[in-house]
Amino acid sequence: MRILIIEDEAALRQQVVERLGREGYTVDASSDGQEGLYLASEYPQDLAVVDLGLPGMPGLEIIRTLRTKGHTLPILILTARGKWEEKVTGLEAGADDYLVKPFHMEELLARIKALLRRAGGNGQEALRFGPLTLDSGSQQVSLNGSVLELTAFEYRLLDYLVRHRDKVVSKSELGDYLYPHDDERDSNVLEVLIGRLRRKLDPAGRLKPIETLRGRGYRFTLTPA
Ligand code: CA
Repeated sequence: MRILIIEDEAALRQQVVERLGREGYTVDASSDGQEGLYLASEYPQDLAVVDLGLPGMPGLEIIRTLRTKGHTLPILILTARGKWEEKVTGLEAGADDYLVKPFHMEELLARIKALLRRAGGNGQEALRFGPLTLDSGSQQVSLNGSVLELTAFEYRLLDYLVRHRDKVVSKSELGDYLYPHDDERDSNVLEVLIGRLRRKLDPAGRLKPIETLRGRGYRFTLTPA
């Protein structure tokens, strides 16, 4: 497995390179956005970790360029503390997941492994809810047979709500699950992402798979069929 890290903070970059190397990954690293884009485009990377604030070219532009050119490699962005808009913009630009700095190296490893697992999905155990199908093996969701383009974050969010569909899931519980190490626990991000997830799952607005219970949280409304 080959992983690219684009990060201009030398100490952090070095730490990530060493740790991923010890885990057995082949690692390419760059401190510059343009060089990073080149490494991502021209070499067979399995995943990229991209800082958003970079000299040469901003991380967001790297992601947009890669997605526009049809590159599907999983991308994990690194964002600054206290900037929830960055998380949303990054995910909308095509990133699959984010980590807020500073982060624990173990958390980075867990996210990378989850993204790689999902990218190499093996197709087993599907749950059907009328027109919606959740395949926990490939971590894919389809609507009337067409696979939906969900980010890893959106998939985790949906998967959690589905597994706990017998109850109302509070925002803080979702935050604990999605971001055990992120003490910002930004409910704005959650709201924006729930909104996007709803539009993807239910473009016609008839299914209403996720219900908001004011002041209590969210509930997945469909029953298996
Ligand atoms: Ca930076």
